Amino acid sequence: MRIETMLNKCQKFKSFIYKNVRLGWHDGNECIEAEIIPRKNSRAICSGCGKPASLYDKLNVRWFEFVPLWGFRVFFVYQMRRVNCKKCGVLVEAVPWASGKYNLTKTYMKFLADWAKKLSWLETARSFKTSWRKVYDSVRFVVDFGLRNRDVSQVKSIGVDEIAIQTGHKYLTVVYQIDPCCIRLLWVGKDRTVKTMLRFFRAFGNPWAEQLKHICSDMWKPYLKVIKKKAPQALHILDRFHIMANINKAIDKVRAAEQRKLEEDGYEPVLKKSRWCLLKRRENLTKKQAIKLKDLLAYNLKSIKAYLLKEELNLFWEYISPYWAEKFLDVWCTKVMRSKIEPMKKMAKSLRKHKPLILNWFKAKKAFSSGIVEGLNNKAKLATKKAYGFKSYKCAEIALYHQLGKLPEPLMAHRF
Ligand SMILES: [Zn+2]
Repeated sequence: MRIETMLNKCQKFKSFIYKNVRLGWHDGNECIEAEIIPRKNSRAICSGCGKPASLYDKLNVRWFEFVPLWGFRVFFVYQMRRVNCKKCGVLVEAVPWASGKYNLTKTYMKFLADWAKKLSWLETARSFKTSWRKVYDSVRFVVDFGLRNRDVSQVKSIGVDEIAIQTGHKYLTVVYQIDPCCIRLLWVGKDRTVKTMLRFFRAFGNPWAEQLKHICSDMWKPYLKVIKKKAPQALHILDRFHIMANINKAIDKVRAAEQRKLEEDGYEPVLKKSRWCLLKRRENLTKKQAIKLKDLLAYNLKSIKAYLLKEELNLFWEYISPYWAEKFLDVWCTKVMRSKIEPMKKMAKSLRKHKPLILNWFKAKKAFSSGIVEGLNNKAKLATKKAYGFKSYKCAEIALYHQLGKLPEPLMAHRF
């Protein structure tokens, strides 16, 4: 059996044929070269309009990398033609196996991108003896295709979230669709400013924004401002995950300050290694952490008071009636305001200020569990890590779309 036969099985073209498959050399290594020529009487396709056009001239031979075989790199070797199109003028022809200036075939890019979903980009590059850059190009190709071909017309509910990237205060804003029928990433933008949010709404258009029914977000002011302006008809919900995450930040501040003070005053450092005891949900603690927490509760510390207040606030989310939930929240905020714990008081103030948006969660019949947003947030963090070393914002963006966008993919006749 000849390799041509196999190639025709997995990658056949209507207007081209494999003329000759041979061993060749590339970058000092032996490789497989498959020479391609146009089928007789077939016409070249204009890359501008996609229509057949008359031949103008021939260009140099180009190499297109295909899926490797038995450890050998495989190349399609083809002499590109130029066409003289009535509509577009003189242009290079379009070939079915490649796209634009990419030197990798579409099939190979799809192949690499599939692996880059499972492995890190670097691991993918190493596994297939290619470069990180080529894996990046491949993922980008697949993502661009998906973004062009996806349908976002049925989106009714979105969640807005932020993720910190690298160290320092660099953020990405991510917008998810959180309808029960489809949970996926819709959009990624740099920073978390008013401008970021405006760019999102501009990208999707006003008519689209007007059909939104629910929007979940955290209390970040720029988000609140733009959402109110651009989608005033949507029920805006400040979700549990974000609020509890903010409470945890407050507790962490209390604990860090108190630990410092205890040390300065020469007391026993009881708060050391207590961070996760105070931040985790009680039922999620390890046995050791649970014992530590029990010990801590015996002390009359601000951190402990803050912790107990948080535990109490967890009950808030169990309410069914918005009316009783509101009553509970009022009592809780009053209690916190009397606690003399500054970071917690700040939280209570902001909860009071945003009370209507928080209570919207009950109005939406708790349809948007904190689990959805939290789960997506964790997956997003993982996705940006997998793309390492992603050096730029663009890499993080592409990695996120690739992993979480549920994008349509270019159809391939054969699965490798
Ligand atoms: Zn044309």
